[in-house]
Amino acid sequence: MSRTPFIAGNWKMFKTMAETKEFAEAFKKQERTSAVKTAFCVPFTDLMTAKEAFAGTDIGVGAQNVHFEDEGAFTGEVSLPMLKEIGVDYCVIGHSERRQYFNETDETCNLKLKKLLQESDITPILCVGENLEEREAGKAEDVVSSEIKADFAGIPEDLAEKVVIAYEPIWAIGTGKTAGPEQAEEMCGFIRRTFASLYSSAAADKLIIQYGGSMKPENAAALLAEADIDGGLVGGASLQPDKFAAILNAVK
Ligand code: PEP
Repeated sequence: MSRTPFIAGNWKMFKTMAETKEFAEAFKKQERTSAVKTAFCVPFTDLMTAKEAFAGTDIGVGAQNVHFEDEGAFTGEVSLPMLKEIGVDYCVIGHSERRQYFNETDETCNLKLKKLLQESDITPILCVGENLEEREAGKAEDVVSSEIKADFAGIPEDLAEKVVIAYEPIWAIGTGKTAGPEQAEEMCGFIRRTFASLYSSAAADKLIIQYGGSMKPENAAALLAEADIDGGLVGGASLQPDKFAAILNAVK
């Protein structure tokens, strides 16, 4: 099964609107392969600017979170109708920083996935991954499979197969430590098998699985050459146009 590689940048809480415009102008000038789907998941305040700056290109724009209610007394939150009006293409769900610092749970990830899948064409990028303690205790697979089972609970196959799963070992995010290609492949293969056991091998064959955790131009080619790694979710290295373009160009 050939899957189109998909590499997305996750800007976290970086870049103002002016910086977004400047980045987009510089990124559009980069030489990059057309064989890779790409997007930038930007802060809410940059979504409109990014949509306008990338209009007429093949570059998608994503949010980094969404609330599972349409509206209400939820100070500081942003709803799906708000994202739809902007024309957002992707939405990150369950990033480990949100799970760690903002009380995101598998239950809320599940509600958010259902909301996006049932009521929009926005593609969710669901992040899963173990922390260092869990890895050292030999529990990486248990943690990741329990996240996947809980996050996809009650979601039928025709909707589930639209989700992109990002395997992001927490110990590798923003730390400069990267899972080795074999280690990352082992977990991405495990994710595909877990998804097949929940749904079907046909759905698992189509599933796009990204690796995330200190991906950079120097290590991208080896990671992206692995059979079950279909792309990347890139934090730090997506903030610089040339570095991010180099990662895209690392796809064979
Ligand atoms: C991320 O933010 O999802 C991420 C993988 O960050 P970094 O590439 O900086 O480790």
